Amino acid sequence: MEGPDVIACEQCPELVESRSRIVDGVGPDDADLLLLGEAPGANEDEQGEPFVGRSGSILDEALRDAGLARDDVRITNCVRCRPPENRDPHTEELANCRGHLERELAVVDPKLVVTLGKVPSEHLLDRSIAVTKAAGDVVDVRLGGRGYRAVVSVHPAATLYDGSQRETFFETIARAAEIAGVGSGGDEDGGQSSLGQF
Ligand code: URA
Repeated sequence: MEGPDVIACEQCPELVESRSRIVDGVGPDDADLLLLGEAPGANEDEQGEPFVGRSGSILDEALRDAGLARDDVRITNCVRCRPPENRDPHTEELANCRGHLERELAVVDPKLVVTLGKVPSEHLLDRSIAVTKAAGDVVDVRLGGRGYRAVVSVHPAATLYDGSQRETFFETIARAAEIAGVGSGGDEDGGQSSLGQF
């Protein structure tokens, strides 16, 4: 099967204009857990990697709490090019990028996908979602003719402007690790194997 990286794509004229590069997913291409964000921001566009700004630091922290390193999981976005002024991706841009996501998911074939925030949750579940209410819900979704298990999550950035969302976010990531059987969620003795990282 073809790899999950997108070498060239010019389907969205506005994004081709606003991006410095295509930001592909990172992490093992056989990861059990795949985290799905919305689209690259300024830091991601500059560094060519998803979730490397402030949201990324919170995500890394929640992963660590769940006994996981960033390198243990696959991290990607619904849209691979930075939208201008960090606006939400348009429906057409999400549709244009969907084939790239379908291919990545088919290659990685994760045990569990975590949808980080409203845009990826609605994109995968194909209905409108109040993520703060739905956070932690486990759902079966279909993408590119294949079925995946997903967990709805608030976006890590939500914890920056609403402290009460922090616990929700951290608990969702811990639950996701448990469902996927990775990190502390996969340990028989509750996290000892992660001590080597410190
Ligand atoms: N927010 C996202 O949804 N994706 C990123 O890569 C960074 C921030």
